Amino acid sequence: MQIQENISLKPYNSFGIDTKAKFFANFRDTDELSDLLSYNSKLDTLILGGGSNILLTKDFDGIVLKNEISGIRVLHEDNEYVYVKTGAGENWHNFVLYCIERNWGGVENLSLIPGNVGASPMQNIGAYGVELDDIFWDLQAYHIKEKKVVTFTRSDCEFGYRESVFKKKFKGQFVILDVTFQLRKKPRFNTSYGALEHELIRMGVKELSLKAISDAIINIRSSKLPDPKTIGNAGSFFKNPSISKEQYLMLKSSFENIVGFENIEGTVKLAAGWLIEQCGPSNGISWKGFRRGDAGCYAKQALVLVNYDNAKGKELYDLSEEILQSVKNKFGVTLEREVNII
Ligand SMILES: Cc1cc2nc3c(=O)[nH]c(=O)nc-3n(C[C@H](O)[C@H](O)[C@H](O)COP(=O)(O)OP(=O)(O)OC[C@H]3O[C@@H](n4cnc5c(N)ncnc54)[C@H](O)[C@@H]3O)c2cc1C
Repeated sequence: MQIQENISLKPYNSFGIDTKAKFFANFRDTDELSDLLSYNSKLDTLILGGGSNILLTKDFDGIVLKNEISGIRVLHEDNEYVYVKTGAGENWHNFVLYCIERNWGGVENLSLIPGNVGASPMQNIGAYGVELDDIFWDLQAYHIKEKKVVTFTRSDCEFGYRESVFKKKFKGQFVILDVTFQLRKKPRFNTSYGALEHELIRMGVKELSLKAISDAIINIRSSKLPDPKTIGNAGSFFKNPSISKEQYLMLKSSFENIVGFENIEGTVKLAAGWLIEQCGPSNGISWKGFRRGDAGCYAKQALVLVNYDNAKGKELYDLSEEILQSVKNKFGVTLEREVNII
């Protein structure tokens, strides 16, 4: 365990933003974490996983603690399920592949989401019709102030759309140490998502398997999203906003192509990407594919903000603010950022 000083965070965030951390250290278990937290309890602390859901807007004048708790182990199993405890520092996609190899079902639709297991409950990661909530059993987290380990069940986590208790009332209070998943021994395939069905047909898949679903999702994601190794990004920058049915019908009468899906509660979730695409920095110019300096919106998906090379976090943040205002002015809808602004 070594504390480094004044180090660049560029290799530690998928936007590739070059800011500095005053102090930086890795931890591999709860004891190391606890020692590091007591190093100087007055310092601001940033817990880091894979850095794929953060935008660093300035130097961090505190200590960055990178979670490297590893290990995947079966806690117990019954006829239907296997309960798998996974260290927060394990790479998410590697964990997905590990499950697929063993024919444990539930995580396959979440293939290729960047980042680590520890951050997955933070925003209840989701893709292609599945959310973490669907396979989550419990987690252990370290309470920074009280210096004790607490277990959170599914209901304790208060999962919502890209939300959990860790982003709201317990923000900054806990460090997630490990997550236990409840996975099916006899998988049930979820191919309800249109693009997934089409890709499986295109691939000529005759018999569904976890591997076929995962491969199809990898193909779709690779064709739609920029690879952070090539173009800095953090995936969807904004959440898809939900509005009342009345507001949706009013908008539909003015914008007949507006994209919306009814939620179970009767509200309507709008496609943030579509809203952003209809707006721009000036009349007749769309945000989609827009570039100012090295900050911009991805040409294939306006919802993804990108760092083409050396953009500053503040430039990307300012761009996100302009986008937010333009959508508000045109549609009266307020977008919320999905990415954590640091
Ligand atoms: C190309 C691309 C595609 C993406 N697609 C999706 C998608 O389909 N669905 C989706 O939901 N997300 C997606 N994301 C976002 C991102 O991958 C997820 O949010 C992921 O879970 C972030 O993990 P991370 O380890 O990188 O978190 P980080 O960015 O390191 O951290 C995110 C937040 O969680 C906190 N945190 C991290 N680890 C811990 C811990 N152990 N304890 C307490 N706090 C912690 C951090 O302080 C920070 O506030 C995408 C990102 C990219 C770049």
